[in-house]
Amino acid sequence: MTNDFSKQNRCLDCPRGCPLGKSFCGKSQEFVRVAKVMRHRFEEPIICPDNGSGAIFFSYCSLKCCFCQNYQISHQGQGKDFSVLQLAELFERVENSGVANLNLVTPTHYTSKIIEALKIAKPKIPVVWNTSGYERKENILKLKDYVDIFLFDFKYFDQGLAQKYSKAGDYFEVCCQALKTARKIVPEDIIENGVMKKGIIVRHLVLPNAYEDSLKILDKIAELLGNNTIISIMSQFVPCYKANNFSELQDKISLLQYKKVLAHAKKLGFENGFIQDLTSATLDYTPDFSLDRFEEL
Ligand code: SF4
Repeated sequence: MTNDFSKQNRCLDCPRGCPLGKSFCGKSQEFVRVAKVMRHRFEEPIICPDNGSGAIFFSYCSLKCCFCQNYQISHQGQGKDFSVLQLAELFERVENSGVANLNLVTPTHYTSKIIEALKIAKPKIPVVWNTSGYERKENILKLKDYVDIFLFDFKYFDQGLAQKYSKAGDYFEVCCQALKTARKIVPEDIIENGVMKKGIIVRHLVLPNAYEDSLKILDKIAELLGNNTIISIMSQFVPCYKANNFSELQDKISLLQYKKVLAHAKKLGFENGFIQDLTSATLDYTPDFSLDRFEEL
């Protein structure tokens, strides 16, 4: 006997486990929707050398943060539909354009179809899994042999914040398990001539009026993976989309709050990583997602 919550009636691409036909993220089960393909130059420098990173931005999102800068694609699902075979062909086109890596941006909700496409066309350049961190650890294990680099967001420590901004009260536990699993399948960071070939960068976006959450996240990264982990502490928050619903999200982060977070990272002994200038807090680095500029490689 089965019921609606049996595994075969659920999508298992992310921890939400939606019943089929009722997707939280917005995707269809048939196609992979892609919002944009571009030579990306604004990731961390070890990901974006002179030839750039070959970024494929996937439409929809399993986390759908209320403040998302890319809400036209993550919430509204703008993009073009691809079959698995067409996606594999797209991977080949991106690789042949001479970029440093294939950068799969917000891929989680298409995990099973992306793995199918990578089985058809696994590039020789590194494959980057550029994730919100809201991942089933079982799915991270399935990426072994297909993914070389994780750009791994660690967004929230506090359950209340995760629920309020992303409707994912279990985010912290889920992210910790997924991150530990990612480290198992990519056990070391390999950087050659300033370009990352394998490894993990843990990213954290500091939110306005929540810097104490950031301090706890840094503590946890140090505890889980050690203070030799490559971290990227971002200050680029701009109030976007449904951030208007929350008065505490109306500000950019203050220099004082950002400095407290950086000082804590230093105190914990983190030495490898990236920080942003507060002038990064603009929408200038958000790609143009209009469909007439779909492919810009
Ligand atoms: S990937 Fe989408 S449909 Fe699947 S479980 Fe997650 S939110 Fe639901």
